[in-house]
Amino acid sequence: MRKTILVIIVTLLLLGDFSMIANASAGTIYETESNNTHSTADVTYNDYDNYGKISSSSDIDWWKFTTAYEGCCNVWLGSIPSGCDYDLYLYSSSGTTLLASSTKRTGSQELIRFHLSANTQYKVKIQSYSGYSTSKNYKFRVFNYPLTPAHTKNLLWNIESIYYYVDSSASIYTSTIADAAYNWVYTGFGWNNLYPNTQTSNISDSAIDFYSYYSPPVNIGGVTVTPLGETSHYAREYGTYGTPYIVNADTEDWLFNEIRINNYAFSSNPSSSLATIVHEFGHAFGLAHNNDNVNSIMCQDIYDRVVSTVQDVDHWAFVKKHP
Ligand SMILES: [Zn+2]
Repeated sequence: MRKTILVIIVTLLLLGDFSMIANASAGTIYETESNNTHSTADVTYNDYDNYGKISSSSDIDWWKFTTAYEGCCNVWLGSIPSGCDYDLYLYSSSGTTLLASSTKRTGSQELIRFHLSANTQYKVKIQSYSGYSTSKNYKFRVFNYPLTPAHTKNLLWNIESIYYYVDSSASIYTSTIADAAYNWVYTGFGWNNLYPNTQTSNISDSAIDFYSYYSPPVNIGGVTVTPLGETSHYAREYGTYGTPYIVNADTEDWLFNEIRINNYAFSSNPSSSLATIVHEFGHAFGLAHNNDNVNSIMCQDIYDRVVSTVQDVDHWAFVKKHP
């Protein structure tokens, strides 16, 4: 987006992203037989440790739980007794619509990851593929992760006509920006309603302008942190053609974004900026921080994010923001 005046670069610590350098379960439940049908399923809850036995070749254990909020869910079966092969199935509350399954033929655990609706009951079936044990428990857990939060306000640019511009100051990041851009188009959890999210050489066509800057580590509250990148959301004073100014994405819609990548952190190894650029793209599209979940790309690096690409909680948050 072309500027009508020189925009003074401001450092927004709240928007900036920085680098620096387990919890116990909520409770324990043992199964109550007979729970061999979905209508007699044992009740469990988010983050509980659940134990049960598959005590004969015909024994089937059903569990049910109700979500508190929309999110993504790990349904995990572990401690499968040695010599046994148990499988895990996730059903809708009717007990007849299979939503997902995990049926590995090796190892002692099964895992389903699934996008769950809010305030909805789900049912889980555990049964033997081979073997059973009258003495050894399996362990079963459900853990529900909230979707990545979104900013209250919106990017006004048509999400189906998004191009980005790379200023010469950020040219060393061009291929990494392209990788990050494509990661939001196809996340691995599905195609997003986002087109084409490719580079344009005409800044007037750009909804997201990339620049670099240079900042050595800074002191925040007595902690030394290295800035990685930052996203600024811009509206215009007089509509589409007025003077650009930075807005708070929770109080005002915005027309376009500027993303800055810190050369201090990345210029010696530009491709190592992938996670930061994917994260900043997320801000440009209206997603906020998800610092409670280290498996979200919208977790800040200072909160020990462990992923470098879009995850399920981020994908479904984007879908919700841009249906
Ligand atoms: Zn951030």
